[in-house]
Amino acid sequence: MAKKTLLLIHTGGTISMAQDQTGAVLPGKQNPLMAQTGNLNDFAHFIVESPFTLPSPHITPDHMLQLKNIIEKHYLAEDIHGIVITHGTDTLEETAYFLDLTLRLSIPVVVTGAMRSSNEIGSDGLYNLISAVRVATCDEAYGKGVLVVLNDEIHTAVNVTKTHASNVSTFQSPQYGPIGIVTKGGVLFHHTPKPDLKYTVTELNRNVAIIKAYAGMDSRLLEVLADLDYDGVIIEALGQGNLPPDTVSGLKNLIDKKIPVVLVSRCFNGIAQDVYGYEGGGRHLKELGVIFSNGLNGQKARIKLIIGLSQSNDPEYIASIFS
Ligand code: ASP
Repeated sequence: MAKKTLLLIHTGGTISMAQDQTGAVLPGKQNPLMAQTGNLNDFAHFIVESPFTLPSPHITPDHMLQLKNIIEKHYLAEDIHGIVITHGTDTLEETAYFLDLTLRLSIPVVVTGAMRSSNEIGSDGLYNLISAVRVATCDEAYGKGVLVVLNDEIHTAVNVTKTHASNVSTFQSPQYGPIGIVTKGGVLFHHTPKPDLKYTVTELNRNVAIIKAYAGMDSRLLEVLADLDYDGVIIEALGQGNLPPDTVSGLKNLIDKKIPVVLVSRCFNGIAQDVYGYEGGGRHLKELGVIFSNGLNGQKARIKLIIGLSQSNDPEYIASIFS
């Protein structure tokens, strides 16, 4: 069978770093993955791009938009059959979800990373990169949206999250599980993801903050966010979607100022809903105009709200993208 052509984009992260004599993990002058591209030639032909070499805590929504534009430019100009992106793991899920919401491609798009740098014992970088390439060249990966492949598992961008600070099995899809696995013998999909709506984004200039709810929380942080001109707020609420009663005045202030407030649960399983009718309970919050995010985690809801606000400020529209 003829070899496929993949666009391989390196953006940085531990997968492209090495440990120095002091033990600090840092990017070097040369991305170690560039030297390893030879190991991949058995699997596909590659067009390689390296637009930035950043630790992923330095990645912003603007970098995500640049990445989308690079992908679209190559897709229109060349006959590519799949895309693999290497990325730091800290914000990998945000970039993957941004691309999932904004790319209208049916070819496989696979994001991967590593938990151990290139010269550490048990380094998982090259292994994960080869797995990502195997998934991106697999016919069954077509039409499945943006996928995240690490540690022999295939996850959807919408459900995957980093669950462990250092373990190589950090990427999990709580509640749903992976949609496939990578084995020595092949790539096996056991679920088909539900496609999400796609958004046309050419510019991003909205600021959305995330805050986490806690016992005894009051309205002061919410008031500060309104004064700082944030365009939207995500709140990681308690349980099924409840907040302490002292936050209610701060929420009202935000909503009166037409700043959308989107609620997710701070529990990493389950969905925030308007169940409880007491003051600050989900039903009361919904009556105030708080939007419930339908199962996204805080960082994904933030990406969706940034994209939504780039389309319209209309509160009904914003509510509709989370319904
Ligand atoms: N701090 C690193 C980063 O996200 C972690 C990693 O890549 O695994 O860039």
